[in-house]
Amino acid sequence: MRLADSILTQVHTGHRKLTERTWSKGSGDRRTRTWPEAAEKSQLRGVTSVCNICGWRGRGFEGVKHSESALCPVCGSISRDRFLYWCWTQRTAYDPRAAVLETSPRMGQLYRDRMAERVDYTASDYDESAHKAVIKLDLQDMALPDASVDVVLTPHVLEHVPDTGRALSELFRVLKPGGHVFLQIPLPQARTMVPTEPEYHGDWTLVYFRFGWDLADVIRSHGFACDTLVTSELRDAAAHGHCWVHDGPDCDVDDLVAGADPAAMTVIADAAQAERHGFQPGYQFVTFDLHKPR
Ligand SMILES: [Zn+2]
Repeated sequence: MRLADSILTQVHTGHRKLTERTWSKGSGDRRTRTWPEAAEKSQLRGVTSVCNICGWRGRGFEGVKHSESALCPVCGSISRDRFLYWCWTQRTAYDPRAAVLETSPRMGQLYRDRMAERVDYTASDYDESAHKAVIKLDLQDMALPDASVDVVLTPHVLEHVPDTGRALSELFRVLKPGGHVFLQIPLPQARTMVPTEPEYHGDWTLVYFRFGWDLADVIRSHGFACDTLVTSELRDAAAHGHCWVHDGPDCDVDDLVAGADPAAMTVIADAAQAERHGFQPGYQFVTFDLHKPR
């Protein structure tokens, strides 16, 4: 083995051992600590991409720049998972005792185990699920006590719920004062619409609503404060009229950007952060931060 390779192997082993020690010690903000599994598979040179969920570092995510792609090879996150997680870690202080509910997480058991080491974590699903440690939950009728949850992470679920208002009322009820809901949905055009033909997502769940920017006002009408979190790329596009080319009926990007109000957006990731963590293209990354007043 060449000397340079040998040194690199030693550095890699040292990095992995240090990560294991740091993880098991459990100090600091564990939401941003690297998993030992990620240290094992990370590159140390020429890194362009970093997973903000598991800490994996490498030369590009797998797949293309799309909210449903750019896969992390360790935790299995796609880019919209990482954006939701980013919003949570940027907008709330770390509390290892925080009761965090995630509705229908895409990622599997390793992710759920690591989350349970980071916070008081519960995953829920609407359907009976094969995963262990999952509770069955209907957002419109949540079997949880009042003011019992600190944070709800809800990726791409609300568009599949028939009664938006009931779901928002239930989220408000179960949230503790001062708590947050990070609500992520696809935003295919500027104003909320009911699909004109039956529309399904990949897992064959029916879409009841194609939400638009006006969802923020609906959220506020249920008692929440609400911020619309975006990347700087999307805010700048809304301010200066730049637009993307998007083929296909799933998104009318011209309408989405033309109907956006840059003053109503809160930038949560700059261009460098979006590039590093794969929050691109900008128009596919919108998350609402619902905050229950104290
Ligand atoms: Zn990852």
